[in-house]
Amino acid sequence: MSQGKAGKVALLAFFAAIIAAFFIFDLGTYLTLGNLKARQSDLATLLDNRPVAVIGGFFLLYVATTALSLPGAAILTLAAGAILGLWLGTLIVSFASAIGASLAFLSSRYVLRDWVKARFGKRVAAIDRGVANDGIPYLLTLRLIPAFPFFLINLGMGLTTMRLATFYIVSQIGMLPGTFVFVNAGTQLAAIDSTSDILSPALIGSFVLLGLFPLIAKSIIGLVKRRRIYRKYRRPRRFDRNLVVIGAGAGGLVTAYIAAAVRAKVTLVESGEMGGDCLNTGCVPSKALIRSARLVHEMRHAAECGLAAAQPEVDFRAVMARVRGVIATIAPADSVERYTALGVDVRLGHARIIDPWTVEITDRDGGTQRLTTRSIVIAAGAEPFVPDIPGLAEAGFLTSDTMWDALEARGAVPRRLTIVGGGPIGTELAQAFARLGSAVTQIEAGPRILPNEDEEVSGFIADILRTEGVDVRTGHEAVRCEGQSLIVKHGRGETAIAFDEIIVAVGRKARLSGYGLEDLGIENGKTLVVDETLKTLYPNIFAVGDVAGPYQFTHFAAHQAWYAAVNALFGGLRTFRADYTVIPWTTFTDPEVAHVGHTVATATAADIAHEIVRYDLGHLDRAVADGVNKGFVTVLVPPGKDKILGVTIVAAHAGELLAEFVLAMKHGLGLNKILGTIHSYPTMAEANKYAAGEWKKANQPERLLKWVERYHRWRLK
Ligand SMILES: Cc1cc2nc3c(=O)[nH]c(=O)nc-3n(C[C@H](O)[C@H](O)[C@H](O)COP(=O)(O)OP(=O)(O)OC[C@H]3O[C@@H](n4cnc5c(N)ncnc54)[C@H](O)[C@@H]3O)c2cc1C
Repeated sequence: MSQGKAGKVALLAFFAAIIAAFFIFDLGTYLTLGNLKARQSDLATLLDNRPVAVIGGFFLLYVATTALSLPGAAILTLAAGAILGLWLGTLIVSFASAIGASLAFLSSRYVLRDWVKARFGKRVAAIDRGVANDGIPYLLTLRLIPAFPFFLINLGMGLTTMRLATFYIVSQIGMLPGTFVFVNAGTQLAAIDSTSDILSPALIGSFVLLGLFPLIAKSIIGLVKRRRIYRKYRRPRRFDRNLVVIGAGAGGLVTAYIAAAVRAKVTLVESGEMGGDCLNTGCVPSKALIRSARLVHEMRHAAECGLAAAQPEVDFRAVMARVRGVIATIAPADSVERYTALGVDVRLGHARIIDPWTVEITDRDGGTQRLTTRSIVIAAGAEPFVPDIPGLAEAGFLTSDTMWDALEARGAVPRRLTIVGGGPIGTELAQAFARLGSAVTQIEAGPRILPNEDEEVSGFIADILRTEGVDVRTGHEAVRCEGQSLIVKHGRGETAIAFDEIIVAVGRKARLSGYGLEDLGIENGKTLVVDETLKTLYPNIFAVGDVAGPYQFTHFAAHQAWYAAVNALFGGLRTFRADYTVIPWTTFTDPEVAHVGHTVATATAADIAHEIVRYDLGHLDRAVADGVNKGFVTVLVPPGKDKILGVTIVAAHAGELLAEFVLAMKHGLGLNKILGTIHSYPTMAEANKYAAGEWKKANQPERLLKWVERYHRWRLK
C-alpha cells in the first residue's frame, strides 16, 4: 500500500473510531436540550470561576464536533447563547463552526476526492466547472438556509476544487444569520422545548428568501454586466439576419451549414478562398504531397516486396499538379454554389464587425454593405507565426501559407531545404520533402520533435526521419539568417546551415486583428477568449476553430461549430457546453502517430493514477504481411480498472485505427468491450483487440483461475 493510501486509511479509521465511540458510549445524551437546561446554572458558575478554560474548552469542543460531523452542533450553539450571551456566543460559534467545517472539508478532500474523481471522473469534471463558475453563490445559498445539513455541505464541497480560503470565508459569512438566530434562542433557553421551536415555518421562509438572494443577485449582476457591455451600442429594431458567419474554413462552413439546415437566415463571408486553410494550404495539399512522397519511398524500397528497386525521377511540377487536382476535386464540397444551394447567403469579401449586431462586408470590387444580425460567429482561423529572426525576411522564407504557390512556381524540389519547427506540420513536411529528394534539415529548439506526444513517440519518429536522411536537430535554436544560411545555436556553439529554401513552421497564431475585435474590446490572449458555450464577452458573438482554440484541427473546428451554431440560434431556450474530453489527434508521418485522451505525460502531470497497456506491432499478421510491423499501441487505464484514459498509436493508418478507441472513450466503453468485438483477420485494426488482450492478461482473476485449475484436475479423475 502506498504511503498516501495508508495515511488515508489511518485517518478514515480514526474518524470511524471516534464516531463509533460517540454512539457506543451514548455521548449524544449529553448534547440534549434537557441536559443543557439542567446544567445551565452549573455551567454559568463554572464560567464565572474559570472563564478562559470554559470558553477555550467550549471552542475546542465545538470545532471537534463539527470537524467530525457528529450530531449536536445545534445544541452547542444554543449552549453558547445560554452560557456566553448573544454577542460573545455568536463570535465564538461563528469562528468555531467555520473552522470545524473547514476541517471536515479538508478531511473529505484528502480521504475521498481521488477516489470519487477516479470513479465518477466525467461528472466530477462537470461539477468542478460549475463550482469554478458559480461555486460562491451556491455555497452562500446553502449556508444561508440552515435547513440544509451542515455536515453534508462540508463533506460535499470538499470533493470539489473550491479553494479552502473561499470555502472558509463564504461559510463563515453565510452561516452568520443562522448562528445569530440560534445563539439568540439560547439566551432564552427556558422558553424552548425543542430545537424545532427555533425554526418556525415563518423563520425558515425568511432564511429561504435570504438564501435565494445570492442567486438572484448573481442573475442581476449578469444582466447589469450585459447591459454595460452593450451600453455604447444601439440595438437594431429588426435584424436582417439570424446569423452572420465570418470565415468559410472548416469552422465557418459547418456553422453556416447547421444554421441553414434549421432554416435560419444566415450569411457566410469569406475574404480568401472558400474552404479556408485546410482545403487550400493545410490538410489537403499536405496530405496529397505526402501521398506522392510515400510512393517514391515505396518504389525505392520495392526490393522489400521482391520487386526491383526503382529510383523514380520526381517530376515536381506533376506532383504539384496532382496536389492542385486533389484540392480541385474536394473544392466543390466547400463551394459558393453548394452552400448557396443549401440556403446560405455566401458573400466573397472582407467582413468587419461594426457593433455587436452589425457586420460590414467589403466585396472584392470594393463595394460595401452593412447587415444587421442577431448573432455573429467568428471563424477567422489562424495564420503561421513567424518568429523575429534577423535576416529571415531577406532570405525569402516560406510558410505553410506561401510554400505551395512559391514551390510550384520554382518547378523543382528544393535541393537543400531547412524546416524550422518540430511540431506536426514541420515533421510531416520534413519527411515528405526528404522522400521527394530534398536534403532536409529540421530545426527544433526544444529537446524533441512532436512535443505533444510522449517522449518514446518523439524518439521513435525522429529515428525514422533520421534513417530516411532528415538531419533532425533538436535543442537547436534558430538565431539569425546570414544570406542563404541559417545560424543555429546549440549549447554554446553556433552552426551555419546552408539552404536553398527555408520553411518556417513554428506554430500558428489566431487571426485577431483587422475585423473589428479591437474596437469591441473583445478579450484575447493567444486566441479569442470564449466560454464553454463558445460565447465571447458579448453574449451574441461566438467564436470557433483556430481563432478560438485550444486545438487547431479541422475536426475540432467542426465540433465547436455545432455548439456555436446551436447556441447562437437557440441560446435563449437552451445552451450547450462544448465537451473537449475526447479529441483525437493525428500526425500524418509514416508511420502515423495518433492519440486520444491522455498521454503518459499529461496523465502524470494531472496526477492521474494510471498503468500502461502496450501492444507491439512486431507480430501483428497484417503488419508483417505489409512490411509495416514497426510501431505500437499504448492504452492508459486506471490501475486495475477497465476504463480507457488515453490511447496512443504509432502505426501505418494509426489515424484510422484510433477511431475505435475514440468511439469507446466517447461512450464509456472499456477494453473488455473491444476484446469482445470481432475484428476482421488479417487487419491492422486487430492491433486494438490485441492491446485489449494484453490488458486482460495482466488483469486475470488469479484466485478464480486456481479454483478452475483444481476443478479440471478433479475432472481428470
Ligand atoms: C500545413 C497544415 C496541415 C494541416 N493538417 C491538418 C490535418 O491533417 N488535420 C487537421 O485536422 N488539421 C490540419 N491542419 C489544421 C487545419 O487546417 C485548421 O485547424 C483548420 O483549417 C481550422 O479551420 P478554421 O475554420 O478555424 O480556420 P480556417 O480554415 O483558417 O478558415 C478561416 C477563414 O476565415 C477567413 N477570414 C478571416 N478573416 C476574415 C474576415 N475578416 N472576413 C472574411 N473572411 C475572413 C480566412 O480567409 C479563412 O479562409 C493543418 C494546417 C496546416 C497549416
